Amino acid sequence: MTHPRLQLLDAEIEARTEAVREHAPAWPCKSGCADCCRSLGAPMLLSAAEWSRLAEGIDALPEAEAIRSGMAGMEAAALAGDPVVCPVLDERGRCRAYLHRPLPCRIHGYYAAGEGGYWCETIEARVASGGAEGVVFGRHELINRAARRELGSPLSWSEWQAGLLQAMRGVVEP
Ligand code: SF4
Ligand code: SF4
Repeated sequence: MTHPRLQLLDAEIEARTEAVREHAPAWPCKSGCADCCRSLGAPMLLSAAEWSRLAEGIDALPEAEAIRSGMAGMEAAALAGDPVVCPVLDERGRCRAYLHRPLPCRIHGYYAAGEGGYWCETIEARVASGGAEGVVFGRHELINRAARRELGSPLSWSEWQAGLLQAMRGVVEP
């Protein structure tokens, strides 16, 4: 079951992204535009509640095992300096666990940094050409702060997996 605080943050983000789409119907973040998923700045760091929800989505897929190995592979790719591609992305550029995607994936392209970052070159070009005039971006640092406060510190996939293992051992060991 999705953590209730996570559901509230989802709803807040959905309201913001919906407002952007209403104001600018041709907004470029659409199914199939997935350059951001193909070039993550770093392996994902998420709260336990977000990992838990994403893992639920992954486990419902026939490719679950491969995707789970891909999660660990993302960390290895980053260490080797290779591009970090999200293993949940399919060949057509679609998120296979869209309804279970974490907060950073929900805000990408709709939330600016306080100092004015717009997340990808497509959005930057649109802003530079005046195509985002009147669009009110959310501020990602506020959502990140709320997520840390309400859901706990972000963890890597391996840290989250290790925590689960430890919790299971705590249950079975006297
Ligand atoms: S953030 Fe950029 S790359 Fe990602 S979906 Fe939006 S337009 Fe496409
Ligand atoms: S979980 Fe989905 S939306 Fe997020 S980076 Fe991976 S493919 Fe993209």
